Amino acid sequence: MTWPEVEESLREAEVAIIPVGSTEQHGPHLALAADTVRAHRFSVRLARHLHPRVLVAPPVPVGISAHHMDFPGSMTLRPETLIQILMDYVSSLMHHGLEKIFIITGHGGNQSTISVATEIIRDEMGIIIPHVNYKTFTSDTTREIIGTGRIDHAGEWEVSDAMFLAPELVREERLTEQGAGSAPWKYTGLHDEFRVNYPLNWHELTANGAMGDARTATREKGEKLNDRALERAAEFLRDFMYEH
Ligand SMILES: [Zn+2]
Repeated sequence: MTWPEVEESLREAEVAIIPVGSTEQHGPHLALAADTVRAHRFSVRLARHLHPRVLVAPPVPVGISAHHMDFPGSMTLRPETLIQILMDYVSSLMHHGLEKIFIITGHGGNQSTISVATEIIRDEMGIIIPHVNYKTFTSDTTREIIGTGRIDHAGEWEVSDAMFLAPELVREERLTEQGAGSAPWKYTGLHDEFRVNYPLNWHELTANGAMGDARTATREKGEKLNDRALERAAEFLRDFMYEH
């Protein structure tokens, strides 16, 4: 948009979405930009759905991906950098009168840093910013559509979503399942039921960078899941706009 178009939009817009992505390896079959492009296009779909009440800020294209750096092309911010970027995005949006802000990430690795950022923003800037990884809008129904019911990195869920939102990022002839990683057994099988966390790097978990099996991904599955996420995100945003 031009600035006069933004000026016009601001008369009716109530919420700004900040999409946050990553630039990181997604196996041999999905491009590095997958999380950024998916988060951005999902946000734009949501804004169109709720037009003219929602605007979308430019996506943050690099996220927290230190654990993917052993694969060529991956880039990472330091957590403190992402926190600073989000604070500057928020103060810019507030400058133009937007005080209801929703952060949508397409990358799970960003979530703990976004949590810290929104706590700092609440303390220092006085606004509560909800945030979500949009895949979780479908976590209760994923099993109906995705065979394994799992939402894996560059696996069936994510590749299906990309086939729908950003097919140019998918290399269909290279769809694959995950390769065996090199992590010592004691870190991968030690009391999984306790859900203890380890800061493992991705190449230790999977040799080709993918998790799960992307060979069963389809555009139709992606469309179904994305539509469902869209409905639920819209339901949340309607309440968020109404209640605050
Ligand atoms: Zn991803």
